[in-house]
Amino acid sequence: MARIDLHTHSYASDGTQAPAELVSSAAAAGLDIVALTDHDSFAGWAAARACAQELGLGFVPGIEFSTVSDGAPIHLLGYLVDAHNDLLSSECERIRESRLRRAESMVNVLSRKVDIGWDDVLEQVHGSATVGRPHIADALVAKGIEPTRSAAFKDLLSPRSGCYVPYYSPSLEHAIETVVQAGGVPVLAHPGSYRRGRVLTDAQLEVLVGRGLAGVEVGHRENDAAERARLLAFARSHHLVVTGSSDYHGAGKPNRLGENVTDPADLDRILELGTGSSPYLPDRLLVEGEAPQQ
Ligand code: AMP
Ligand code: ZN
Ligand code: FE
Ligand code: FE
Repeated sequence: MARIDLHTHSYASDGTQAPAELVSSAAAAGLDIVALTDHDSFAGWAAARACAQELGLGFVPGIEFSTVSDGAPIHLLGYLVDAHNDLLSSECERIRESRLRRAESMVNVLSRKVDIGWDDVLEQVHGSATVGRPHIADALVAKGIEPTRSAAFKDLLSPRSGCYVPYYSPSLEHAIETVVQAGGVPVLAHPGSYRRGRVLTDAQLEVLVGRGLAGVEVGHRENDAAERARLLAFARSHHLVVTGSSDYHGAGKPNRLGENVTDPADLDRILELGTGSSPYLPDRLLVEGEAPQQ
């Protein structure tokens, strides 16, 4: 059975590897198909696809869209979206600009506490990457202020640190509709991450399904057993796509490629629903009778 991981980050956002390097790592990890889902960016697609073609690995283009619901950040995966769609690309651009200003503001606040400046952060950002707290974390680590990225998130970068600044993102409902009108397949990312009474209830999920939500990421290290069981039952009763993925960030997070995987039947449904861009599937992975996709 094909091993499929549908949630990874390259240095086009806050992963630590180049998109092609990430695809090579996916092949080395024994995966057959990988999706690249950088935060609010399509910048890594071309290089990832080219490497996948070279290695004979399947590739699914995607994004992880930053959204907000009840004031809390929620991530929405969007598979096979059209990167040239006006509404989607302008929303991503707006989020990325806001994230950049937000990171500068956070560094301003942090610089009153510790010895860090904006140049230190820029050193950690690759090209026009979507800037996030991970880049500030990496700067804090490079300067010896924090031991690891994860430690920085728990300490100076946590929302309770007094240094946290929010950024613009569209509402979850609007984001779902934006992904759908861009030909993509919206899948709610790691629904179990949003704790402290902020987990989306079944009633709230039902509203999202009404807006076009197509699936939920059930297999993810931040969903505990009870949350996985609830999501699975909800997905079955609402005929949603179910995914499982690593949320790999290279060396930036402990998540390992392939630690959660997606059933090929669920990927097939994503491929049927998504019309905004094409996956690359090598001949060996194509079911007899299916047209080869480039
Ligand atoms: P931000 O979106 O800028 O508020 O930063 C949060 C993002 O940092 C999430 O998407 C996480 O996946 C990502 N992240 C990357 N590395 C880590 C880490 N070691 N610990 C926590 N979050 C991380
Ligand atoms: Zn991330
Ligand atoms: Fe996420
Ligand atoms: Fe992610």
